[in-house]
Amino acid sequence: MKHGRLAVCAAAVLLLLWYLPADSQQLDEGSIESLRTRDLDVLIENIETEQDAVRVVLDAGHGGADLGARSAKSILEKNVTLKLARLIEKILSEDERVEIINIRSEDTSIPVIDRIGHANSGRGNIYIGIHTDGGASPRSHPWKIYINHGKNQDKENVTGAEWENLNNRFSENNEELARIIAAQLVEIDPDRGVDIVKSDVLSLGGLAMPAVIVELIDFSNPDDEMLLEKEELAPALAEAVSTAIIKYIEANSAAVNQEWQGE
Ligand SMILES: [Zn+2]
Repeated sequence: MKHGRLAVCAAAVLLLLWYLPADSQQLDEGSIESLRTRDLDVLIENIETEQDAVRVVLDAGHGGADLGARSAKSILEKNVTLKLARLIEKILSEDERVEIINIRSEDTSIPVIDRIGHANSGRGNIYIGIHTDGGASPRSHPWKIYINHGKNQDKENVTGAEWENLNNRFSENNEELARIIAAQLVEIDPDRGVDIVKSDVLSLGGLAMPAVIVELIDFSNPDDEMLLEKEELAPALAEAVSTAIIKYIEANSAAVNQEWQGE
């Protein structure tokens, strides 16, 4: 689909989603009215800010008919991302400072724009998109962490109509979160390396919170496939990502809780 048309459709759907409060987080009339102004700052000021826990959004990539990448032995990305999300959720749910927002908990196909809407309307504080690499050449690729490209930084008054810029204010947080995750992943395999990649992936720009997409496990790499089958790799990766999230929260606990206040 052409990018322009996609952006217009996406913006329309996202605005609609934004007007609909998340099931568990009903907004009062004043908050809903403020959403109609399409002004993010007003939204931030009026939205309920009191929260006990840091909301971590886990978004397992693909699902349902959207299989994602496929390994030589037909391991499917959609299943591995769901497994990783469940493992991370299990680890993090033991920490009372964390509340999990799970975008996909079953084998269902969810449009990207719905994922963004769910993360934003649930007022997530940290977004972790989970994918695997499906590179064509059979070698060990570095793991990758994608963050928003951070263009249009000069646009201060971001409005709902420019939803794809909602992540701009979090560019420093994105980089810090990515660095902390990378440091944990490197400990699993120091030789492999981790690339932090600035990306114009549609979803990253629309996320109103610090956000990364981690691309873990390389389906083109027979070693990764073997470790996956032995049930070694996924738990180690989930542990690394979970540890990194906690480290990020501990380094930013006050700031993380104030993000929706626009500070
Ligand atoms: Zn993917």
